Amino acid sequence: MATPKIVVLGAGYAGLMTVVGLQKKLNYNEAEVTLVNQNDYHYITTLLHEPAAGTQPADHARIAIRDIIDENKVKFIQDRVTAIKLDQKEVHLAENEPLSYDYLVIGLGSAPETFGIQGLLENAMFIRNINSVRMINQHIEYMFSKYHNEGQRQDLITIVVGGAGFTGIEFVGELIDRMPELCRKYDIPREKVRLINIEAAPTVLPGFDPELVDYAVKYFERNGVEFRLSTPIEECTEDGVILKGGEEIKAATVVWTGGVRGNKLVEESGLETMRGRVKVDEFLRAPGHPEVFVLGDSSLVFNKENERPYPPTAQIATQQGQNCAKNLVAAIRGGQMEPFVFDLKGTVASLGRKEAIGIVGKSKMFGRKAAIMKRIIELRWLYLLGGIPMVLRKGRHLI
Ligand code: FAD
Repeated sequence: MATPKIVVLGAGYAGLMTVVGLQKKLNYNEAEVTLVNQNDYHYITTLLHEPAAGTQPADHARIAIRDIIDENKVKFIQDRVTAIKLDQKEVHLAENEPLSYDYLVIGLGSAPETFGIQGLLENAMFIRNINSVRMINQHIEYMFSKYHNEGQRQDLITIVVGGAGFTGIEFVGELIDRMPELCRKYDIPREKVRLINIEAAPTVLPGFDPELVDYAVKYFERNGVEFRLSTPIEECTEDGVILKGGEEIKAATVVWTGGVRGNKLVEESGLETMRGRVKVDEFLRAPGHPEVFVLGDSSLVFNKENERPYPPTAQIATQQGQNCAKNLVAAIRGGQMEPFVFDLKGTVASLGRKEAIGIVGKSKMFGRKAAIMKRIIELRWLYLLGGIPMVLRKGRHLI
């Protein structure tokens, strides 16, 4: 029998965990494993709010793929996927010949969900990847540098963050940490800077523990953050945002963190999707395609307890990748596959370098202790990717 071909799309949490699992479990020549990713590095999405605010260099949030994979067992192709042809069992790439597969793992992550807000894609910035966060950081700094040169316009030092979910809150927390240094550098009194977090829901971190939310809001307000809750943004313009009811906030920097949807390539493949995400079966496979596994932000897994989908997180993507690797090995060896069961270990949101909130197991955590827990979670990801050597190489700034 010909050696089965496994193609993994995306070197994010889901794709990399699949590949790392496969390279550990598979014998040489048991399968031909190919990983495709548009960059030659993995970016640690859960750290991107730091380089976006300029509190850490972007390089801290990325790892070369060749430092993670075993090239004797996994072939890496740096290229952009342009189409997934399910009927032909082929993946089309921008620069290389199409790849054929026996098993396909889709881990292409997400795209911003704009909820139809006019002008958002054109005028806002997004915390998406290394390139986008470098731009946000440079943009903020450039706006601050213009302040004294352009008549001390308030909009130059007004930053609007749209969305007060995890990404929005983590970014605002980093901005709080960054402001003193940035204000000193450009001779701007800190109290002149406006950091405005706008959210359509009536609370920040909707669905999160109210006591922890209260802690976060008080910490932010003490540090000069203005919240606009129950306030949908109706339009994003070149000058700022227009809120429901018509109020305009002039801001030279608007960063949208209000939600994600699945990668559009998944929708375009013809698979049935909800907000670009595929409702997968118990083995994380696409309906009608037992050879196609959809993981991470492109997948939709329902919590049986409340019949609601789990939110897209690195935590679930990582566990899906681990499950998928086991099941691919089982499929190749003619064994039994294991259903995916999500084990929610907890949730921690950073509010800056020294502040965080979270629930781990049944314990609530605030402040410094939670911030340390957040670092431990990041170190664990490095450990899963490359053991202690990876922790020592890439994790020093987290310790
Ligand atoms: P990703 O990690 O996004 O990986 C997708 C990969 O596919 C990327 O490498 C991308 O370059 C590649 N790709 C995409 N399109 C193409 C293409 N056409 N061709 C080739 N390659 C392509 N989750 C948590 O659990 N905890 C947190 O604390 C947390 N904090 C977050 C903070 C921020 C600022 C953000 C933005 C997200 C955070 N998340 C957090 C969510 C988490 O990062 C995502 O749920 C997770 O990254 C999803 O993993 P994934 O493997 O599906 O996709």
